[in-house]
Amino acid sequence: MGNDAIAADLGNLLSADRVLTGPSARRGYDCDAYTVDKSAPTAVVLPITTQEVAKVVTWCTKRSIPFTARGAGTGLSGGALPALGGVVISTKKMTKILHIDVHDRFLTAQTGATNKSLSEAVAVHRLHFAPDPSSGQVSTLGGNIAENAGGPHTLKYGVTVNHVLGLTLVDYEGTMRTFGGSNHSLPGPDFLSLLVGSEGTLGIVTEATVNLVPMPSHVITSLLAFREVGQSTRTVSSIIEAGIIPAALELMDKYILRALKLAFNLQFPDDCAALLLVECDGDSEQAAREQMEEVKRIAEDLGGYDYREAADEAGRKELWRARKQGIGAMGRIAPSSVTHDGVIPRSKLPEMLDLVYQVADQYKIGVANIFHAGDGNLHPCFYFDDREPGVVDHVVEAGELILRKCIELGGSITGEHGVGVEKIDLMEELFGEEGLKLQSSIRFALNPGNLCNPCKVIPNQKGCIEHKARWRGNAW
Ligand SMILES: Cc1cc2nc3c(=O)[nH]c(=O)nc-3n(C[C@H](O)[C@H](O)[C@H](O)COP(=O)(O)OP(=O)(O)OC[C@H]3O[C@@H](n4cnc5c(N)ncnc54)[C@H](O)[C@@H]3O)c2cc1C
Repeated sequence: MGNDAIAADLGNLLSADRVLTGPSARRGYDCDAYTVDKSAPTAVVLPITTQEVAKVVTWCTKRSIPFTARGAGTGLSGGALPALGGVVISTKKMTKILHIDVHDRFLTAQTGATNKSLSEAVAVHRLHFAPDPSSGQVSTLGGNIAENAGGPHTLKYGVTVNHVLGLTLVDYEGTMRTFGGSNHSLPGPDFLSLLVGSEGTLGIVTEATVNLVPMPSHVITSLLAFREVGQSTRTVSSIIEAGIIPAALELMDKYILRALKLAFNLQFPDDCAALLLVECDGDSEQAAREQMEEVKRIAEDLGGYDYREAADEAGRKELWRARKQGIGAMGRIAPSSVTHDGVIPRSKLPEMLDLVYQVADQYKIGVANIFHAGDGNLHPCFYFDDREPGVVDHVVEAGELILRKCIELGGSITGEHGVGVEKIDLMEELFGEEGLKLQSSIRFALNPGNLCNPCKVIPNQKGCIEHKARWRGNAW
């Protein structure tokens, strides 16, 4: 089918202005925030209802055309990349909050709604949607569900799967199905947990009902500075060992601080090799204060030399600004960056960070670290100039070395960014052949033609291998 025929057909299903097939649309949707691999769609559609999504999926299935869901495109593993072309189904216009129940603390929204909009809608009731990826100004509920997104506060409050109560899914052949509801205690197997984190490979989630969490009444936020990175990672491990679960426990190394200084003129203590951002909360000032005093004592014992506490809400926002804008600030020190995502047991953080710096040296690439240290969830952020021949291959190889070490240390190749296309080759090392066979059988039971987001997560899918070599920066 030619592009004009596709545009005309899809335009009849939705409306012509919500079907994009021009070169700029194809370029705009050829990757997500993992820009190493690229593949352009044939068309992008912007449905506004579940019924429209169902029509588009049915149309694609009848013609064996692949389709891929996309939220804001902030994913960091190539999940929304249309690997075999076809139709990108964007939820950009599906942003409605459909129902808010303050009494029973849940809301239902279309999955194009952003994290920010969900929490803002219920802030007046001192409630919020707890998953808080640092991309939350724009990242969508659907993207959170597909990636089982986390964020700084998931150490205490849990990741997306802990907050989804129900969802509406358009399955591989365009049938609308609902799972769960506003009630946690439905009988039978837990399909919600299977769908959350399935990276858009088991259908398109169009609406979801999520839990709302009360905002803590007392919050203390602080920055702790260390002269050695090892002192900060040992502090993280000791805080958790002491039985303290801060609301957030984030680490930023001196390279990310340099980027933040350059980008936003943020100032940090001199000689600082790493900063911990710690947030303690509780139902009383005393509860939050006791936790923070204990954190401070542990940090000081292990070499913490500078403690700054936010005096008020504006001060808190300023401290969080450094954490939330860290990845964006990388643009000040290099034209390209790739943020990796792996998990290790917290006690292995000192050993792991040594390896991260060593690998970056070995490949002569810059690396900055900004991550959810309390969860043992690393984000080494490699920065480089992608115009240098061979550098992108080095970045990919270096990332794989780090992720292999995560597996060796008993961790995982992803904490929250998913597998996408980026880490597909490491899946067998993590799960073994038998483990992957089981995952494939579930995938193909629920997505038999493999048209729904093909070439993601599970390696060696038919038709994907030959395309793979062409993805590397090659859409145009
Ligand atoms: C600066 C920055 C900071 C980040 N910080 C964090 C963080 O702290 N924690 C964290 O977990 N992640 C973080 N991320 C990664 C990313 O923002 C999250 O994974 C987010 O949930 C993706 O949402 P999105 O709307 O951008 O999804 P997209 O990138 O558009 O899509 C991601 C995946 O979800 C699928 N998908 C999207 N919508 C649907 C749907 N409706 N139905 C089915 N599948 C769907 C896509 O096919 C794709 O596989 C960060 C990214 C950036 C760029």
